[in-house]
Amino acid sequence: MEIITFEEAYRIVLNSALNTGTETVSFIDSLNRVLAGDITSDMDIPPFNKATVDGFACRKANLELELEIIETIAAGMQPENAISEHQCSRIMTGAAVPKGADMVFMVEDSLILPSGKVKYAGSFTKGNISIQGEDIKNGDSVLKSGKLIRPQDIAVMASVGCISVIVSKMSRVAVISSGDELVEPSQKPGICQIRNTNAYQLMAQVQRAGAKGKYLGIARDDEEATYDIVKKAISECDLVLITGGVSMGDFDFVPSVLERAGVKILFSRVNIQPGKPTTFGVHPKALVFGLPGNPVSSFIQFELLVRPLIYKMMGYQWDPFTIHFPMKDSFSRKSIDRQAWIPVVITKEGFVSPVDYHGSAHISALALADGIIALPVGKKTIEKGEVVSVRQV
Ligand code: AMP
Ligand code: MG
Repeated sequence: MEIITFEEAYRIVLNSALNTGTETVSFIDSLNRVLAGDITSDMDIPPFNKATVDGFACRKANLELELEIIETIAAGMQPENAISEHQCSRIMTGAAVPKGADMVFMVEDSLILPSGKVKYAGSFTKGNISIQGEDIKNGDSVLKSGKLIRPQDIAVMASVGCISVIVSKMSRVAVISSGDELVEPSQKPGICQIRNTNAYQLMAQVQRAGAKGKYLGIARDDEEATYDIVKKAISECDLVLITGGVSMGDFDFVPSVLERAGVKILFSRVNIQPGKPTTFGVHPKALVFGLPGNPVSSFIQFELLVRPLIYKMMGYQWDPFTIHFPMKDSFSRKSIDRQAWIPVVITKEGFVSPVDYHGSAHISALALADGIIALPVGKKTIEKGEVVSVRQV
């Protein structure tokens, strides 16, 4: 199968997205979920004119006068008296401003006189009243469908009394490792063995993307064993990630096994580094990625292709967060025929610097990195001082 550009691969993957459907959950459990309907407010916020400081509520026009204190208004209490000329009420932060008052001066700016009256003693004051409905009006749409829910969004839900929310169902993602050389992290690898890194990295990436991972174990480099585990994954999940076994080696069974399991392979080579053997196919029940075995490759391909797919399946249009900083030194690469992604750090001085990186097996380099930067096809050198876009990982 021919090698395709990253842009083409991205287009194919996103166009294959299935829809996960929706469900209703408590707002408490909605963190990292994608909202599947607008949320509107059932009231004005603030619901009343509210003091934003502890102080004295009075008329602006009376600010220079000695004022009689007629009441003390605590938060949560309804004021009993309206403010007239020469009057004020002592008021607490968050309390309702009494009728007749149009400002609150701070307790720090006040002077209590021997007469028991109070006088403004500051030199500058704001109004210190937040007006009913100034943040949110009754009926306003406060959160829009398609939003990835963060803690501050949950605060908005709480404030408008939205205790159950419609969200997209979590995409169910099967994770499979493949390779006879792999042992699980709890084991000490024997001669010529290594620990299974990818499954745990991918499970964490899946979790970070707000989906539900299901780890199905290590498939041995054996066609039947791989077939069985792939079949199980396809029947149980919407998306299947299998790492390793997609290169050109004698024991790289994954593409043939996928086809036998009824997966239509849409691409199996992408013009990108690391991650060229990334394979993608569709089955009526699930979408399937064969990701390269090396952990940096599988990590980066997840970020570039799988994460946007998961989000799209859950109705979230993701725009990866990037920051722009100049290169600390120039950086060159040997071959320019592929789009390359390089792990970098951002220095305290605000420069971008590639980490010491020995290639796509070098997972500890990725752990040191703050982000990754891309070199497009044809670009050999990034000059010192050139501003690059760093994608946070
Ligand atoms: P493969 O794609 O199976 O040819 O594997 C490419 C490289 O990635 C080999 O060096 C494998 O040992 C390594 N590799 C494959 N799967 C894993 C895994 N789950 N964790 C860590 N390394 C792996
Ligand atoms: Mg292998």
